[in-house]
Amino acid sequence: MDRRKLAVLADAARLDAPCGGRRGSVPDREAALLPTDVEPTAIYESLAADGRRVPLLRILLSNHCVHDCAYCPLRRSADPPRARLAVRDVVRLTLDWHRRGLVEGLFLSSAVDRDADHTMEQMVEVARTLRRQHHFLGYVHLKVIPEASPELIREAGRWADRVSVNVELPSQRRLDALAPGRRLATMHRAMDRLRDGIAEAHEVSRRHRFALDPSRAWRRALPRFAPAGQVTQLVVGADDATDAELLAAADALYARQRLRRVYYGAFVRAAVPDAPGDLLPADAPSPLRERRLYQADWLLREYGFTVGELAPPDAPDLPLEVDPKLAWALRHPEAFPVDVNRAPREVLLRVPGFGRRTVARILAVRAFHRLRAEDLARLHVPVSRALPFVVLAGHDAAALDAAERALREHLARRARAQRGLTARAASSTRRAASSASAPPKTRNSRPSACW
Ligand code: SF4
Repeated sequence: MDRRKLAVLADAARLDAPCGGRRGSVPDREAALLPTDVEPTAIYESLAADGRRVPLLRILLSNHCVHDCAYCPLRRSADPPRARLAVRDVVRLTLDWHRRGLVEGLFLSSAVDRDADHTMEQMVEVARTLRRQHHFLGYVHLKVIPEASPELIREAGRWADRVSVNVELPSQRRLDALAPGRRLATMHRAMDRLRDGIAEAHEVSRRHRFALDPSRAWRRALPRFAPAGQVTQLVVGADDATDAELLAAADALYARQRLRRVYYGAFVRAAVPDAPGDLLPADAPSPLRERRLYQADWLLREYGFTVGELAPPDAPDLPLEVDPKLAWALRHPEAFPVDVNRAPREVLLRVPGFGRRTVARILAVRAFHRLRAEDLARLHVPVSRALPFVVLAGHDAAALDAAERALREHLARRARAQRGLTARAASSTRRAASSASAPPKTRNSRPSACW
């Protein structure tokens, strides 16, 4: 395998977020321990739902692209080092690294080389060969090219554990401005097909689960279709789309496509120094913005918040100084204090500092005795954060005022510290921009493309 090709395609693949959890390339100290024939940038450590680090071979099949998305360093009009791999090379590499215990699976993506069907056919062929000829049982994530034929899209779901179609921008108007030729409707059609395939396979499996077959041989005969679901990615900060727009797009995608996750990839201006005209903003978004979007996304999915509550029309961007839940609480003093000993679960979930597990513990404990302030500490609640918003046995109004003052001081200190952090990050981005002549190789360099 040509090491240069591998490095080019592994570096380009680092621009994609949806590998299932986010962690990054192997740290330098661990990379130094890898065998000399292994390209460390091609190993991506994904974070599983249980917190386990899962190393994946993350690579592009090709970085030649027929499209010309302004925010992408691989666009047709750019001039990065180009490379493509053959199907047999990717299969051989995956099997070899898997056998040696270097990776647990493959995350395969590609730019649109020649045309969508040609590229998708090759990606499907990699997964099919791994599964059929080599009985590969490791994890496989395939990026789906939405313009590919319906048959190829279904085949991708058949052989992969997880599939993803990257929507990138929240509306067709925004795609027209930055990614000419990309159609939101086409992306939705591809996602519809994947959603239906996943639902069908799930339904068949559900029905068979109750079959009276002690040998459980039926398990092997069940249709398999992307059992780890589908995900997508939105680009943050490549245009003036507000957080409210991005979250509304994510919310609609969760509802319509039943996605496992929406990933937010912060646009890095330094990655596209030669972008056409003045289509792109001069600066990268604050690194905190991506984090706030993930927090808001989590609140939408798990805590019953709506987009309008987190990013209302008069403040469509999430505040960077405090997390979205605390920001909502500070905007809605009428909703507090909450009586921890009486409030229902959905109200408790809105208290800053209370997570789902904390609320479950509170509900269990308060069945036996009334909770006091010291009980919150025993439940591992960040007390200084939660206390100004709650009423507890023995926690009176005077204490509430004092705690509220303490909290405001604490928030002010944090906001000052975070402003410092943001300024430092912005200056380092500017330094990177001035030295960039090719797609950057930093771990956070993710100008976010559709591959
Ligand atoms: S974002 Fe995707 S389609 Fe657009 S230029 Fe980059 S690789 Fe090609």
